[in-house]
Amino acid sequence: MKIRIFETDPNAAPKKRVSFPDDVVGRVRSGKAIDGRPVGLSTWRITTGDPDVANAVANAFGGEVAEWETSKEDNLEVVTKTDTLPVIISSPEVISARLVLWGMGGVKIHECDGVTFLDEERYGQPCGCPELLAERKAAARRGHGPKPDVQIRFRLANDPELGEFRFHSASWDFLTYLHIYQSELEEVGGPARCDLVLEKVSFVPKGGEMAGHTVSYRRPVLRVLGAAS
Ligand SMILES: [Zn+2]
Repeated sequence: MKIRIFETDPNAAPKKRVSFPDDVVGRVRSGKAIDGRPVGLSTWRITTGDPDVANAVANAFGGEVAEWETSKEDNLEVVTKTDTLPVIISSPEVISARLVLWGMGGVKIHECDGVTFLDEERYGQPCGCPELLAERKAAARRGHGPKPDVQIRFRLANDPELGEFRFHSASWDFLTYLHIYQSELEEVGGPARCDLVLEKVSFVPKGGEMAGHTVSYRRPVLRVLGAAS
């Protein structure tokens, strides 16, 4: 049966397919909440509100299209079978980074570039964050200091017509390599073919609970490969 609500109210019909307020068709994620707890994944997960996008992603990178619980528009998810996503990044400007501390109820407590505030009220004033990276990480871990919020927009190299996707990262690793990625993108001087990789890192801690055992995790890495054809 076809819905006929727009025959009687044509102006109410959306002019284009479901998209986010900022026009990305989906989000690329490195984790998933399981029983309310964030869990890192070993393969990329893509969420979208558009069934066509979800199917295209599942066809290209494996995985099943499924619904997941969210209050946002991207209610479909595909946990793909790949840890390497071929993407096209149009310029270094599509990467943005800040440090943010969120409080109860989603209130922004601290937003800075590491040295000065970025929020409108206190823009440019010294933010008081620690100088050393290790101290910044420790403050963030204790919930006192802001965490990285890096955002990248890109298209999928295999299907650029699908639209733009967004990836957010709270990884300190990703943040600390960002200036290298940006200068590599600048060198390309135009749309660049890149791989967004969930790279496996293994190490053996000397102390703590896991001392002497191999611990592995995944971290997001951007490989800039050259000019997009
Ligand atoms: Zn700060």
